[in-house]
Amino acid sequence: MSQLTETAVKGPHSNLREKYGCLIGGEITGSGSGNTFPTINPATGEKLADVPDCDARDVNRAVEAAQKAYPGWRRLTPMERAEYCRRFAARLRERADVYAMLDALDSGNTVKAMRQDVANAARLHDYFAGLAPELKGETIPANTQTFNFTLREPFGVVGRITPFNHPILFAASRLAAPLVAGNTVVLKPAEQTPLSALEMAHDLKEIFPPGVVNVISGDGPQAGAPLVKHPAVRRVAFTGSVEVGREIMRAAADGLKTISLELGGKNPMVIFPDVDLDQAVASAFNGMNYCWVQGQSCGSTSRLFLHADIHDAFLARLTERVKAVRIGLPTDEATEMGCLVSQQQFDKVMSYIELGKKEGAQLVAGGGKPSNPELQCGYFVLPTIFDQVDYRMRLAQEEIFGPVQSVITWKNLDELIPMANSVLYGLTASIWTRDFAAAYRLAQEIEAGYVWINDSSRHFTGVPFGGYKQSGLGREESYSELLSYTQIKSINVNLA
Ligand code: ADP
Repeated sequence: MSQLTETAVKGPHSNLREKYGCLIGGEITGSGSGNTFPTINPATGEKLADVPDCDARDVNRAVEAAQKAYPGWRRLTPMERAEYCRRFAARLRERADVYAMLDALDSGNTVKAMRQDVANAARLHDYFAGLAPELKGETIPANTQTFNFTLREPFGVVGRITPFNHPILFAASRLAAPLVAGNTVVLKPAEQTPLSALEMAHDLKEIFPPGVVNVISGDGPQAGAPLVKHPAVRRVAFTGSVEVGREIMRAAADGLKTISLELGGKNPMVIFPDVDLDQAVASAFNGMNYCWVQGQSCGSTSRLFLHADIHDAFLARLTERVKAVRIGLPTDEATEMGCLVSQQQFDKVMSYIELGKKEGAQLVAGGGKPSNPELQCGYFVLPTIFDQVDYRMRLAQEEIFGPVQSVITWKNLDELIPMANSVLYGLTASIWTRDFAAAYRLAQEIEAGYVWINDSSRHFTGVPFGGYKQSGLGREESYSELLSYTQIKSINVNLA
């Protein structure tokens, strides 16, 4: 029986373990204090499991294990390290259904979307494994009497902190670049969604030498903050909110650590009047990631700039599509859109919906919970569209991190550009037009690290992803990510 059929027969809960532990120095273990915290299914409110509640002492143990493993790991050749990542990628693919179902239970994302996230994580491991031979230096003809060359060396122990929106994707895929580069890692997944990372601990334990990857669960201030501050952690990589990104930057300053930050977004999608409406509407829908993570994505194109000439026709079709979404239990294969991750996230999204109404925007779709009786115990919010939004409203300036799209009307490109660039963020942008010269001009003017022309939402392996302005520092999913886990050593040999 395939794993998929087996899951369907036994039910989603058959993927849960009786007990979850962290991975420290090759051992599955509880927190030193013995403390745990419950993780909840946000679609039903049921408790799924208790997981270790780690603190600074556990961080110390994990960092010490990573330090101990580092000399052996860095002495392997990049190709040897890459082999481990390839084996891990294969394991992710073999167990994709288990991981996807755990994320569906723990995060509220649909099992279908999470299966895709596992596939993406596996692909990134293979990609970085393939880049291993590119970890090379340069020879520099600086002087006829000397031989000058560089090496790309790892940092040592990397602290990796991940958010709740793509639990297994971020936890798994963001190990690849630091590991191939020769670092060892301590990973801390989000407290709302620890299960897939703790499940992954078992596969990591089997595949990697002890201590090369360590996984600890716990909340941000108690487990995340000591990880950032630990003197032996030389490189910190964070994905999450701007507020915590700033805290991490401050905390890392004491140790002058190298950091990378992948933070929020309030991304523009600009629709010109010459587009094929069906294609562009489908893209505006997909760009919001309603059916991926219920809009809880830094990359969502949540500010939709519609040209006045097509505004009415476009909005009518988009509203129709949004109202047809199959919202349902995340573990059902037929569900298109699941629920938000927590009460806190639900309250935040609902407060922005209320704010939008108060600010004078016009609610044209969604705006609250679905009426399906079986969804009343979960944090479900219908896909929500506001029209008549002024780009200066808080609704259009602040990241909501949920299924709320703001429609802003535009007429003239020179006026549009400052509106599109008026936010603190600069992660992604999408431009829809047949006029390539206009699209290219706009792509150059827009302050964003990742721009789609006649497309949205899709990531392409190897293409650098990251933000301008307060959307972050550094680029991931690319050669730049691999190099960011190395430092250059210059060696000069006197030949005289
Ligand atoms: P989100 O908005 O996605 O919940 P957060 O920025 O709150 O993002 O959290 C992302 C990750 O950062 C989580 O793993 C969380 O535990 C961790 N975190 C939160 N606060 C801190 C902190 N002060 N130091 C380190 N990590 C933190």
